[in-house]
Amino acid sequence: MEERNFETDAIRAQSERTDYREHSVPLYLTSSFVFDDAEQARALFADEVPGNIYTRFSNPNNTELIEKLCLLEGTEDGIATASGMAAMFCSMAALLRSGDHVLASRSVFGSTHQILNMLFPRFGISHTYVDVAKPETWEAMIQPNTKMIFVETPSNPALDIIDLEWLGKLANKHHVILNVDNCFATPYLQNPAKWGAHIVTHSATKFIDGQGRVIGGAILGTKELIKEVRFFARHTGPSMSPFNAWVLSKSLETLAVRMERHCENAMTVASYLESHPEIEYVKYPFLPSHPNYSLAKKQMKHGGGVVSFEVKGGIDRGRKFLNSLKMISHSANLGDTRTIATHPASTTHSKLSTEERAAVGISPGLIRISTGLENVQDIIKDIEQSLLASN
Ligand SMILES: *Cc1c(COP(=O)(O)O)cnc(C)c1O
Repeated sequence: MEERNFETDAIRAQSERTDYREHSVPLYLTSSFVFDDAEQARALFADEVPGNIYTRFSNPNNTELIEKLCLLEGTEDGIATASGMAAMFCSMAALLRSGDHVLASRSVFGSTHQILNMLFPRFGISHTYVDVAKPETWEAMIQPNTKMIFVETPSNPALDIIDLEWLGKLANKHHVILNVDNCFATPYLQNPAKWGAHIVTHSATKFIDGQGRVIGGAILGTKELIKEVRFFARHTGPSMSPFNAWVLSKSLETLAVRMERHCENAMTVASYLESHPEIEYVKYPFLPSHPNYSLAKKQMKHGGGVVSFEVKGGIDRGRKFLNSLKMISHSANLGDTRTIATHPASTTHSKLSTEERAAVGISPGLIRISTGLENVQDIIKDIEQSLLASN
């Protein structure tokens, strides 16, 4: 097929039209599919012919979502999962064995920490956390049994940036699978596979849905690795509901325009906060003050929709600030049309110890703002009144 642009693929890649000649792809709410005859059933189960058997294995809505995501990420194959965490867990569990080791950037999502710290040791899978600020130390931490490098960039919520080109080369040099959680960037802002990632994981719950409705995830990657992931998923059952796949495929149609505005609003909010005397510090990948500003500029199209900052006055002031917000929602999600403020230390990352949080750049008063699609002046007005009210 002819090369098309991102926006066009996001809209025009869709399942084949049925005899009903529908314009928008219908929802296939069916748990199983009918066989024409005994021979077809046998051939389908033997993987000799393509086709749907049972929705835990595949479904037209899930297939459409994955084909579209593969086009947008530049990957060969993938599977849709019931949540982002199902994607993180399966992408690791399917490809690792007892005795294997994972090298992970310290600043990964809270539940990813729990998988590595609390669950994988039960199955004999070990890990080492590496410091995002000291990439020169990583290579020496690769062990003979290291099978995977797992990173998140930009990270949640500290917005650390890891050099994907460098990491892709390092992973290939050591024949290690590179797995990148690309949730914060979305395929619109960054394509880790282009830099050598073998697996790209997503929480589709965030910007891909973009409207705070459904939970979902995706594992994308090379044909060879996804074959193993698909086997694991088919028999363990983390499949996405067709309804969610249908919602998410439609969401992708507007991803580009939404991300443009999310990023524009986030940049405006970040610049406003940086010049505000009541703010201790602001972190945003496309602010020149970000320690990896030039790297972010190199591998991302825009800075993303999330801004992290600390209000002067530490945790007490931070809590007062959250309680004083009038329009901005206080919630644990992100990537919604509605601007959301979160206090990671007491919510999403509360299961980490204070030392672990400090090591991943989550100071006690850190506030994460997922900049929505409201008029940015109204977002700033709410932040402004809340800063005044909490003083
Ligand atoms: C939210 C999130 C996840 C988990 O996704 P769910 O859809 O909530 O299961 C994983 N990684 C990152 C970076 C996230 O922000």
